[in-house]
Amino acid sequence: MARNLDPKCRQCRREGEKLFLKGEKCFTDKCAIERRSYAPGQHGQKSGQRLSGYGVQLREKQKIRRLYGILERQFRKTYAEADRRKGQTGENLLQLLEGRLDAVAYRMGFGASRAEARQVVRHNGVLVNGKRVNIPSYTVRPGDEIQLTDGARNQLRVKASLEAAESRGFPEWLAMDVKAGKGTFKAYPQRAELPATLNEGLVVELYSR
Ligand code: SF4
Repeated sequence: MARNLDPKCRQCRREGEKLFLKGEKCFTDKCAIERRSYAPGQHGQKSGQRLSGYGVQLREKQKIRRLYGILERQFRKTYAEADRRKGQTGENLLQLLEGRLDAVAYRMGFGASRAEARQVVRHNGVLVNGKRVNIPSYTVRPGDEIQLTDGARNQLRVKASLEAAESRGFPEWLAMDVKAGKGTFKAYPQRAELPATLNEGLVVELYSR
C-alpha cells in the first residue's frame, strides 16, 4: 500500500500547524512546531511571502490530506463521493474522512497516531460488527461496533494509547467501552465537533476550478 514517507514533523511545519502525526510526542514540548514554527527548508524563515488564491486553496487541501494521512488519488475519490452525496460537499468530505476505519480506530485510541492505528487495522487487529476488517479506507457506518481483537488489546502500545486517549477524552460521536477495547460509531460528526482550523470550503473551491 502506498504511503506518504515524508518526515512527519516536516509536514506539520510546511502546513504551519500541528497535525498530530507522531503520537505522544505531539503533546509534549518536543513537538517541532513548538520549537520551530516556520516552514522547513532554506527559505522557510523568509517573511512576507504571500500566497495566491490558488496557493491558499492548495495548502489547505494538502493540510487536510496530510492530517488524515491519505494520498492524492484516494483523497480525490473521497471528494467525488462527498460531492455525490446530498448536503454540503465540504462537510460531507470531512465526515467521510472521519468515517474511514483507520480514522475511527485512531479516535478510539487504538493507536497513538493515525499511522499506528492504521497499522493495527492492517495487521488484523480490528473487528467491525464482529468481523475482521483490515482495510484502512473501509467506510464505517453509524451504529457499527468497532472492537480490538484479543491479541491487539493485549499489546502494550495499544494499551498505552487507549489509556492516553481516555485521559484526553473521546469525541462525542463515539461511545467507548475502554476495558473491553471497543466502541460504537454513533453518528458522523457534526461540523462544529471538528477542528475549526480546517477550512474545507477551500478544498471545494480548489476542486471546482
Ligand atoms: Fe507535528 Fe507531532 Fe511533529 Fe509536532 S510532534 S510537528 S504535531 S508530528
